[in-house]
Amino acid sequence: MDAPLNLLEQHEILTRLRCPSCKKGKLDIQAEQAECRCLYSECGRTFSVYKNIPILINPDNSLFDAQEIIRQHKSIQHKRLALKQMLRKLLPDLVLNTITQQKIALFQQEILKTKTEATVLIIGGGVEGKGIASLLRNRNIRCIESDIYIGPRTNLICDAHDLPFDDASIDAVLIQAVLEHVLDPQRCVAEIHRVLTPDGVVYAETPFMQQVHMGAFDYTRFTHLGHRRLFRYFTEIDSGPTCGPGMALAWSFKYFLASLTSNRKLSKLLGVLASYLIFWVVYFDYFLIRHPGSYDAASSFFFLGRKATYPLEDGELIQLYRGLT
Ligand SMILES: [Zn+2]
Repeated sequence: MDAPLNLLEQHEILTRLRCPSCKKGKLDIQAEQAECRCLYSECGRTFSVYKNIPILINPDNSLFDAQEIIRQHKSIQHKRLALKQMLRKLLPDLVLNTITQQKIALFQQEILKTKTEATVLIIGGGVEGKGIASLLRNRNIRCIESDIYIGPRTNLICDAHDLPFDDASIDAVLIQAVLEHVLDPQRCVAEIHRVLTPDGVVYAETPFMQQVHMGAFDYTRFTHLGHRRLFRYFTEIDSGPTCGPGMALAWSFKYFLASLTSNRKLSKLLGVLASYLIFWVVYFDYFLIRHPGSYDAASSFFFLGRKATYPLEDGELIQLYRGLT
């Protein structure tokens, strides 16, 4: 796997950046001074650059703070984290996604339909998302891998509520398992729409039947049609379940067992026990994912669409129901 781009060496991408605070100024990046500054005279806000990663967060409208992000990264005990990740690999995986890889191939085809080179913004790209390896390897696509923390692949820190890019400056956006973690998904999708070129493409995956993960940073779930409506200013290319009812059932059982105690450590242990007892259920998704019942019971949905000027009307939306209820 190629290393993530160093954005500070990507001059053409840097010219597309815009101040996330005033939304007017271009940014002057001074890597040596580890900061960048908004060039709009009435704003003039400065932003940190840490380890070649610009931290472009609007402090007036974000849960996240640049100095806190840097402090957290410095305090990570990398050996402990590696051990935790190794132990996690010994656990049966309750995530089965048989869809994303082929949809990411379609996403790339759609992006490169009208151009030979493209810039893709990945929101929530701190670690490599499931099924997106071909996108990261594609020689005709440059990926901006953004997140709100410094992960192994982060090359830009930004908050999806205030994307630090000019209007119509990005060819495609990938947002995988992120929209449940933002306070205002409508605002984030409006930002995606704003930064996309007129023929820009979006690929989103968002949970439906999933329990709370990432603690305090988990707010919303979407049905298939709820997700479609969230992207109503896009023309649909494809959509459907990505993780099926088997995975939803496995997670339910795990969280049910984990909820039997108030003791946090015991609860985690029960979760581990549940994983060993229930992991086999996720394999049902190899065929359930194609059943219409999946539209009522899937663990998550995807939406692939192209930027449009006019929205999908709500009357049309209800014609799109594909489930069984
Ligand atoms: Zn500014």
